Amino acid sequence: MKEPNTPKACILGLCPRCGQGGLFDGYIKIKPRCPACDLDYAIFDAGDGPAVFGILIVGAIVAGLALYVEFTFSPPYWVHAVLWAPLIVVLSLGFLRLSKSTLLVLQYKHKAGEGRRL
Ligand SMILES: [Zn+2]
Repeated sequence: MKEPNTPKACILGLCPRCGQGGLFDGYIKIKPRCPACDLDYAIFDAGDGPAVFGILIVGAIVAGLALYVEFTFSPPYWVHAVLWAPLIVVLSLGFLRLSKSTLLVLQYKHKAGEGRRL
């Protein structure tokens, strides 16, 4: 079987083995199996990883922008609330799906799993 394009599978949320079937059943719920190659998605467990990456990366982006706007323009506080609250929601929701598919595809590619005795 041909190795799928990893960045494409991460961005589009495709099966890490065949690159054809989708990973998601809804927004971030993972399907039980790949509809194309029947890969069992139950082997994947990203845990809290996608949320942690989202918090750290979105937080860094928004905090940097907020500091830039504050020190450059010194707007009233309501401007910060109007700017950053929607941006946090949009970036968090967009980044969560991307980070979840990325972690699952990389788990498959690097055969990551529970610790095992040799
Ligand atoms: Zn597949």
